[in-house]
Amino acid sequence: MSQKDVNPYPFSDTNKRYQTFDYYTRAVFGGKCARIPLDAGFSCPNKDGTRGTGGCIFCLRGSSSNRGTLSEQYEEARWVALRKWPLSGFIPYLQANTNTYAPPEVLRRVYEEAAALPGAVMLAVATRADCLSPGVLEELVRISKKLPVTVEIGLQTTNDATAEAINRCHTFAEFRDGYGRLRAAGGNISVCFHIINGLPGETREDMIKTARDAAALRPDMMKIHLLHVLRDTPLADSYEKGEYVPMEKDEYVSVVCDQLELLPPDCVIARLSGEAPEDVLLAPAWCRRKIAVMNDVDKELFRRDSWQGKYYV
Ligand code: SF4
Repeated sequence: MSQKDVNPYPFSDTNKRYQTFDYYTRAVFGGKCARIPLDAGFSCPNKDGTRGTGGCIFCLRGSSSNRGTLSEQYEEARWVALRKWPLSGFIPYLQANTNTYAPPEVLRRVYEEAAALPGAVMLAVATRADCLSPGVLEELVRISKKLPVTVEIGLQTTNDATAEAINRCHTFAEFRDGYGRLRAAGGNISVCFHIINGLPGETREDMIKTARDAAALRPDMMKIHLLHVLRDTPLADSYEKGEYVPMEKDEYVSVVCDQLELLPPDCVIARLSGEAPEDVLLAPAWCRRKIAVMNDVDKELFRRDSWQGKYYV
């Protein structure tokens, strides 16, 4: 008997005891799909002084690098992806900075352009919960009538003291408010929350509470990240002074399994450990072996005889 044969988790056809993004795209789009990160040249209200300056302590300093047109960025990444896997579709992912932070007419042009990229089956838009004004919501709903949209909102933590310490410049109450308005707007929009484990000063209980609080809001998807120390960030300064110590792998795996157990069983786990660009990653070194981390999560859930949502209430 393999781990796959004894897997009690319903949204899986492998040994995975959580709903992977791959399982989701095969179920919804008929095959594996690749996300293509794009930089549309937006800024962030947490960098330009509107909400804060300097940005979140883990975010690269400076604004968008704007690496060419959306189409150029997309085509370059699309052909790389197609050389690696047989793919059924692509998800243009407006990732860099805050992709709802512009006048509605600018957003409309960018969303229309991204949604029209060849092979696109869904559009993903990364943003902050405090950047969802009525005009923005109207544009998201409008484009979602042409192509399904996932709005990816950075939550990171539900502990306001941590949010302040990392210079997030919004509270959990503001997050809930923005999320509530996004849900109320309707359209063909799914919502993905991002949370980060290993934030400075956070205990295991804080991280688990963040997952429990997120679960209570019933997101369609979750991305669980490890805090990476990137060069040229305020966090890197703390790390180099010895003030910040990254999580160890075993601790991360154990916390992630606790969090998965608390999340809604049908929530898509779009990521379990983030990927950092090699040229800017300072620490921890173990996160470079992403497959090893994911394998350890599989082994730990199997060892516990557990799965995503086992303790969801
Ligand atoms: S992490 Fe996101 S919200 Fe924070 S400063 Fe960077 S772009 Fe802005």
